[in-house]
Amino acid sequence: MSQDWDAGRLDSDLEGVAFDTLAVRAGQHRTPEGEHGDAMFLTSSYVFRTAADAAARFSGEVAGNVYSRYTNPTVRAFEERIAALEGAEQAVATATGMAAILSVVMSLCSAGDHVLVSRSVFGSTISLFEKYFKRFGIEVDYVPLAELQGWDAAIKPNTKLLFVESPSNPLAELVDISALAEIAHAKGAMLVVDNCFCTPALQQPIKLGADIVVHSATKFIDGQGRCMGGVVAGRGELMKEVVGFLRTAGPTLSPFNAWIFLKGLETLNLRMRAHCASALALAEWLEQQDGVEKVHYAGLKSHPQHALAQRQQRGFGAVVSFEVKGGKEGAWRFIDATRLISITANLGDSKTTITHPATTSHGRLAPQEREAAGIRDSLIRIAVGLEDVVDLQADLSRGLAVL
Ligand SMILES: *Cc1c(COP(=O)(O)O)cnc(C)c1O
Repeated sequence: MSQDWDAGRLDSDLEGVAFDTLAVRAGQHRTPEGEHGDAMFLTSSYVFRTAADAAARFSGEVAGNVYSRYTNPTVRAFEERIAALEGAEQAVATATGMAAILSVVMSLCSAGDHVLVSRSVFGSTISLFEKYFKRFGIEVDYVPLAELQGWDAAIKPNTKLLFVESPSNPLAELVDISALAEIAHAKGAMLVVDNCFCTPALQQPIKLGADIVVHSATKFIDGQGRCMGGVVAGRGELMKEVVGFLRTAGPTLSPFNAWIFLKGLETLNLRMRAHCASALALAEWLEQQDGVEKVHYAGLKSHPQHALAQRQQRGFGAVVSFEVKGGKEGAWRFIDATRLISITANLGDSKTTITHPATTSHGRLAPQEREAAGIRDSLIRIAVGLEDVVDLQADLSRGLAVL
């Protein structure tokens, strides 16, 4: 059969193909220009031939674009590719990762609903629940990530959703996603997974039973630390609500950023494999060093949930955290001695980053809260990039030398 690129690619052409093929090809609908790359549609609105055509598009009688807050072809290509990679019926892109989380809760929860959140989620996620959702009558409780009985016991009759990040930041704790989905569903609640740290290259929560996946595309999906964005993926009937909220409230993704993320997705799996290989090599090496007291990385045999990580993930991720001798002073001296690695809290970048969680990402927690969360003053987090691992090891050796 000849390739009818003028008519665009048919989704059925991609049925049954592997992840790497979807990452490169899913979601592209070629224009009659025949472009091989993805077209970037920088337009806010779309024109109609007649008033009647406009009316038909606005009413939804005829499918098509009306206004880029609702739909944009470049953004749609990114959404379709993410849906294919996550194994979700539908995905919708958002301006940032936080906008993805905002959109899920705003569209699926109402005043009087109860939400359970794992204790060790992203700082802004906690602020969003604590400072804003609570103000609108949503009840929020926090549960330790790994303990399934704790989740089961905390579910109430009005519990609408469970929200988790697995693996957690920065200590790489995990939860058994399939088991947690069963617990949620048995009591009529939904499971939402923030899959930012693994990306669909390493973990597909929807295939494990989760109802919704959210991402900060700012991290590994972009992969080069340049653009902000997010995405929500899930079942059609849930996504209908999320899409409705986004189109009305407007925290939607710029087509330029969607175009960058399409490029990012094409190399996602290759990059994740390289991030994981270097992170594992550095974690194993750090564990042997005198100045290092403990390494937290699910790829290590010493990690209490190593077996679960092997079962649930296709790799262990880029984030390694470790405790050094000398408390906060030791950790700061270590960080300041590095020359190559960037001192910043970001992750998912081709450039390796290093941060001191106790005084940055987790600095706003009270000391007892930090202690309870296991964020010691001696803890350092690295998010391993794509530099040569020998150079990264040499840079970390500068830190070890001043402990
Ligand atoms: C960065 C991050 C977010 C927030 O994403 P933004 O794109 O910064 O809004 C949410 N969850 C996790 C796990 C993150 O790392």
